[in-house]
This record gives sequence, structure tokens and C-alpha cells, in this order.
Amino acid sequence: MKRPLKRSAKDCPFCQIANGKLPVSQRFADADMIAFDDIHPHAPIHVLVVPKKHIASLADITPKDKELMGKMIYRCKELAKKLNIADSGYRVTVNVGKWGGQVVPHLHFHLLGGAPLTERLSSYTEAAVLLSK
Ligand code: AMP
Ligand code: ZN
Repeated sequence: MKRPLKRSAKDCPFCQIANGKLPVSQRFADADMIAFDDIHPHAPIHVLVVPKKHIASLADITPKDKELMGKMIYRCKELAKKLNIADSGYRVTVNVGKWGGQVVPHLHFHLLGGAPLTERLSSYTEAAVLLSK
């Protein structure tokens, strides 16, 4: 059972990573963001691109974050080149909220590649949908 998303930066694991308090395998960092290997990779390359500022989810961005979002998407593209998955192809995804599968309550882009990915982006259980009504 997934825990409900917390809305504060307190105890946020990705804020701790951004502040250098939790060790990660870092791929990139600048003033705005940090990128590091996912601890439980779903593909040979699975990097998380994370803003240093605490934003709980994509649903919480404001017009002020538009430039930051552009920088993060651009960084995904640059990292794909750097990690040699640009030519073969890759996937960038954002899970949003409980039903979107978001577990860590700090916005992050998943950059996945290094092997053919499944065509299906996601799946759902019809029984779960019925139960939720
Ligand atoms: P999401 O389900 O979109 O919230 O994805 C959260 C991702 O963060 C998962 O793929 C986790 O494996 C990953 N993750 C959680 N904690 C860490 C950590 N300390 N270092 C690297 N990846 C992490
Ligand atoms: Zn955070």
C-alpha cells in the first residue's frame, strides 16, 4: 500500500540528496537540479532528474517554474546523449500523485533507456478501478 503524498520538504529524501546529505551515484548537478541513478533501476539506464527546490509533484508547478521545467527536459536530452542512449531511443516519464504511481513526494523525471522498453506505458487493474468507485 502506497503512503499518501506528503506536502512538505521535511524529511523529503530528494531534498536530502539535493543537499548532499544522502549519497547517490550522481550524473549531473548545477544550481537548479541534480541527476542521479535510480536506486531500483527499471532499465539498464535509469536516471532521475530532480529540481533542487522542493516541488511536491508536477501538479504543484506554477508559472514561475516554467523555465526550470524547460531546463530539466533539456537536461534529460543532454544526459541521454552523454549516456549513449540518444540514438537507440529512450523514455522520459513523470509519475504524478497516487494513481499516477508517484511514491517520492518531490518532483522528478525518470530517464529510462539502454534496452528496448515495453510499448505499454502503464497498466491498471480493472478490479482496483471498480473498488475505488
Ligand atoms: P516515483 O514512483 O515516480 O515516485 O519514483 C521514485 C523513484 O525514486 C523510484 O524509482 C525509487 O527507486 C527512487 N528512489 C527512492 N529513493 C532513492 C534514493 N535514495 N536514491 C535513488 N533513487 C531513489
Ligand atoms: Zn523535497
